Amino acid sequence: MSRFLRKQYEKMEPYTPGEQPKIPDLIKLNTNENPYPPSPEAVKALSGEDMESLVRYPDPEASDLIDAAAEFYGLEKNQVAVGNGSDEILAFIYMAFGEKICFPSVSYGFYPVFADVFGCDAKAIPLTEDLRIDPADYMDFDGTIIIANPNAPTGIALGRDEIEELLRADDSRLVVIDEAYVDFGAESCVPLIDKYDNLLVVQTFSKSRSLAGARIGLALGAAALIEDINKMKFSFNPYNLDRLAIIAGTAAIKDRTYFEECCGKVAATRERFTAKMEELGFQVLPSKANFVFARTDKISGKDYFTKLRERAILVRHFDKEPISDYVRITIGRDEDMDRLLAVTEEILCEQVK
Ligand SMILES: *Cc1c(COP(=O)(O)O)cnc(C)c1O
Repeated sequence: MSRFLRKQYEKMEPYTPGEQPKIPDLIKLNTNENPYPPSPEAVKALSGEDMESLVRYPDPEASDLIDAAAEFYGLEKNQVAVGNGSDEILAFIYMAFGEKICFPSVSYGFYPVFADVFGCDAKAIPLTEDLRIDPADYMDFDGTIIIANPNAPTGIALGRDEIEELLRADDSRLVVIDEAYVDFGAESCVPLIDKYDNLLVVQTFSKSRSLAGARIGLALGAAALIEDINKMKFSFNPYNLDRLAIIAGTAAIKDRTYFEECCGKVAATRERFTAKMEELGFQVLPSKANFVFARTDKISGKDYFTKLRERAILVRHFDKEPISDYVRITIGRDEDMDRLLAVTEEILCEQVK
């Protein structure tokens, strides 16, 4: 730390992203990326792009992408804003609406970090004993509520009706639903947008659209909320999506068939993999996401993580309570999961000896 850092940041703990190591033949199941490549339409659009166009700034309105996203979700253009990944959208939300904010104590690691960065009055609300979000615990909170649905790293989803109750209970507070994983089998709250002007839905192209490297996120909600988000964007980084991201994102969201096919494959693999893990004696939380959260009495979360890593399989372990027994495993291709299952059997056999 230099002596120039602002006092308020001396104790700030930055977010720790999952590793992106350069180990050959690594099976990488630690950051919930999609195992399938981006839409061929996105790849084609990028390869057809004249790279000399990069001499110009991108469209600050990202209109092509906004039009395509509005069409996909059945919304008006003024109900959509874009961010450099949904992380940036979340940052805008904290800037704009985060004076007083709450989120689940076990959830996306960025929620408490943003609260520090933007000096929010933040409250972490514990999960139930079985690691669920109980909407009743949020009913009386009188600030902005952020919930990831499905939640990370548990994968457990709330129903749309449960979220609707929160929206209806008190329309003087904003409810933000982070739908990073919704496309893998949970119920989206987008259909509630025209009914509730206190709802913001956050989506990302990083998981279900295989474009984590392009950094594209969306905010979807009432026009007045989107206007506030754009006020933050245009006060911070008007060109937050680069030209290539706009091109790739626009082509990807227009390719509904490929998107649905990939999400379907991941969900099918998840169900098959979950059943096999249960056969091996794991307890697997009921996931609607592209990952599962699993534990067993046979080996600790940390040891299982370490032994997988020694065999070039990378998953995610969070060394904190109440989830230190668990590992989070991203759903990869069928062959990746078969390899993981075979290696897991070996590891469990060694434990018994
Ligand atoms: C991955 C993830 C994000 C961030 O996604 P980007 O669009 O890549 O910034 C946001 N929220 C949750 C819950 C996530 O898991």
